[in-house]
Amino acid sequence: MATERTLSIIKPDATRRNLTGKINTVFEDSGLRIVAQKRIQLSDAQAGAFYAVHKERPFYASLVSSMTAAPVVVQVLEGENAVLRHREVMGATDPKKADAGTVRALYAESIEANSVHGSDSLENAKTEIAFFFAETEILP
Ligand code: GDP
Ligand code: MG
Repeated sequence: MATERTLSIIKPDATRRNLTGKINTVFEDSGLRIVAQKRIQLSDAQAGAFYAVHKERPFYASLVSSMTAAPVVVQVLEGENAVLRHREVMGATDPKKADAGTVRALYAESIEANSVHGSDSLENAKTEIAFFFAETEILP
């Protein structure tokens, strides 16, 4: 199995409710290692660019505004099959469909305010990590 890195974001709905530590525990208990982490305030331009793939979707403006409503915690997670493992512990996009014990089942407020983002492929993980982190900020 391959050691991978993936990009994680703890979203404003979760930072506002002081859930960063509880969510990090779910990640760490699943075998993922936090090898970079910072709390930042996204600008409209940053959030819009990060979610550009969704710009034709009806919820795009609302998603961008939800991502700038409070600080986020951006992270690089490392581990065996990290991209898929992270997606599994995050749970489905819609918390009503998320498996018990996943971050979204435990903590999400709605399909939009769903507490966490995770890269959906190794290729996108590389792009998304580079969006937020210099290689020198990642310390395995
Ligand atoms: P993810 O990869 O599981 O985060 O889901 P997507 O890439 O499909 O969507 C990106 C983000 O857009 C989700 O995490 C939600 O915050 C938001 N989102 C997705 N679908 C919907 C929707 O139907 N309505 C609203 N309001 N937001 C959505
Ligand atoms: Mg996605």
